[in-house]
Amino acid sequence: MPHRSLHIDDVLYQYLMDQSIREHPAQVALRAATASHRYAGMQISPDQGQFMALLVKLLGARRAIEVGVFTGYSALSVALAMPDDGRLLACDISDEYTRVGLPFWSQAGVAHKIDLRLAPAIETLDAQLAAGAAGHYDFAFIDADKTGYDAYYERCLQLLRPGGLVAIDNTLWSGSVARPAEDADTAALQRLNTKLRDDQRVDMSLLTIGDGLTLARKR
Ligand code: CA
Repeated sequence: MPHRSLHIDDVLYQYLMDQSIREHPAQVALRAATASHRYAGMQISPDQGQFMALLVKLLGARRAIEVGVFTGYSALSVALAMPDDGRLLACDISDEYTRVGLPFWSQAGVAHKIDLRLAPAIETLDAQLAAGAAGHYDFAFIDADKTGYDAYYERCLQLLRPGGLVAIDNTLWSGSVARPAEDADTAALQRLNTKLRDDQRVDMSLLTIGDGLTLARKR
């Protein structure tokens, strides 16, 4: 069985950071503001944020969705990568967490690109579909409650245009997806991973960046 020959230890990860990361000062400041948060581990890494920004630029994305904002680093990364008339529909239920990011979105001059909706994401996405927005989006990032992922994926797939991309976070779940599931989150991710592998509506790839990032391009 072929396997990864590259082990990313702390020294190599620091090298990757030093040699490839180009953060906006507001991104650096937002990471610092989140570092002491009890759920700081929920924030995507700078290399993942930069990769997603590259995807957004490759797609020429002007309409994007985020399901699960937390303190707003990924939203900031995506907003910085979009043109001035780009818009990110940012879905979250926590005022407490998202409020951390607001000053940094402003500092970066991208607050006007981020449409924060504090409501269950399914309600926000269904409202978009009901308003006729199916096929109107270029990019979606799903990083929220894992048992909700499949429902978010189905909505985002409808909202994306053909050729649009959905990125799904934590699909390797610290490796636990490879072992018998002992909790609902792991089981949900396992079911979704199998579904995505077999889903002929998309072209897909599961990357080992971060905690596992699945990219699925709508056909
Ligand atoms: Ca995540």
